[in-house]
Amino acid sequence: MARYCGPVCRLCRREGEKLFLKGERCYTGKCSVEKREGGPGQHGRGRQTFSNFKIQLREKQKVKRTYGLLETQFHGVFERAAGTKGVTGTELLVLLERRLDNIVYRLGLGSSRRQARQIVNHGHVLVNGKRVSIPSYTTSPGDVVEVAERSKKNPLVVAGMEAARSRVIPDWLSLDQQAVRGTINSAPTREQLPPTIREQLIVELYSR
Ligand code: SF4
Repeated sequence: MARYCGPVCRLCRREGEKLFLKGERCYTGKCSVEKREGGPGQHGRGRQTFSNFKIQLREKQKVKRTYGLLETQFHGVFERAAGTKGVTGTELLVLLERRLDNIVYRLGLGSSRRQARQIVNHGHVLVNGKRVSIPSYTTSPGDVVEVAERSKKNPLVVAGMEAARSRVIPDWLSLDQQAVRGTINSAPTREQLPPTIREQLIVELYSR
């Protein structure tokens, strides 16, 4: 599956806020958003214009980049959300949160979503006892996500867990630290999802 391979701090600077794409570094003074003002590139963000379209586009780009998806993948998730009976914007965020790479990240088994995706891709993760190496796999309430026994000492996994140690695990997940095993207690509600995301703007953008 295609993915963005360029410099990730540039993406945060373009959106003007921390998207936590780089793991441990994001929580230190080395974060580019904290160190440098303005957008990426020689001339920074320059003069700003704020049309409705631009505001909607930036919100979509922010969410897409936060979860590490490319446009086609993101639009596919949106289409799925639009096909459900729930509120499209909320369903979009819930589907993104239920992705296996995001669950691994939220459980603190990877320092960033990018690293979590690598851990899944390399076959270190089991869902309900079966190996799943597809980062976009949609988990369900009741699923048990764990690191495979033979992977518990893998340097990638150990480094990811070490870097994520200080992060708080959301209420809708639980983790058995000893067994390195997480359970999805329920699908997240809107209140349990990041309050800074304005998903209605994304719905408006795709409805144009
Ligand atoms: Fe974004 Fe993290 Fe880079 Fe800061 S360190 S700009 S939060 S990716």
